[in-house]
Amino acid sequence: MDKVIITCAVCGAETTKEKCPNLPITPKEIADSTYEAYLAGASIVHLHVRNNDGTPTQSVEVFKEAITLIRKKCDIVIEITTGGAVGMTPEERIAPVKLEPDMASLDCGTVNFGNDYIVNTLPIMKKFAEEMNKYKVKPTLECFDLSHILSSQILIKENLIKPPYHYGFVMNVPGALGFNSKQLSIMIDHIPLESEFTVMGIGKAHIPAVYSAIAFGGHIRVGYEDNIYYSKGVVAKSNAEFIERAVRLVKEAQKEVAKPIDVRKFFKLRD
Ligand code: ZN
Repeated sequence: MDKVIITCAVCGAETTKEKCPNLPITPKEIADSTYEAYLAGASIVHLHVRNNDGTPTQSVEVFKEAITLIRKKCDIVIEITTGGAVGMTPEERIAPVKLEPDMASLDCGTVNFGNDYIVNTLPIMKKFAEEMNKYKVKPTLECFDLSHILSSQILIKENLIKPPYHYGFVMNVPGALGFNSKQLSIMIDHIPLESEFTVMGIGKAHIPAVYSAIAFGGHIRVGYEDNIYYSKGVVAKSNAEFIERAVRLVKEAQKEVAKPIDVRKFFKLRD
């Protein structure tokens, strides 16, 4: 794909309002922040939802409310999380797929998350892929490590995932693979033909990941889930602020930013 897809991860499960005062929490705040990101140039929203007290939830009702509000505002491609948050069961994590979002993340292996961890065995991954196929939801294959790419290939071999594949390299999570361009290029070397990849640089990896995604011909993810600082010590005013900068960098590189319609066509998403 020639155009660059920019995904906005608007709130995630871990970011707190204390550290990030403008973090969207309620379905309405999430929909408003998503719409601002869309106007700024995001074509996919990576969606988590929260309880009113700010704690993460995979509640189908809360996801439904957020998705309905977003769809009323714009045609941004909606990718829900099935990673959920630390401590959730696989059944909880996969439940909102029945809402038929356009896409969903599919974690491709067990991963350390600071002092916590998220378990993704092959049977869990296969079950998630089957559920996504049932509801015609396109998976983003989230890989936190090289071995996760190899695990994803087992699902591909078993015909549980169809091309074109969308990989998401989540880099610099504490306890998982760090970010540098050499490690990124090794990840890229291992993905199958007919793949696109989005680079997700966590924390300090944010800016280098954006530049590397452009340089390596990939796609970009930014937003409060991955990083809250616009510059050193300065918390971003909004998710849109990150998107605006990513759009500027893509244009400086003489590339075009993809629109939601481009993403829908390329990945053959449900109409
Ligand atoms: Zn997420």
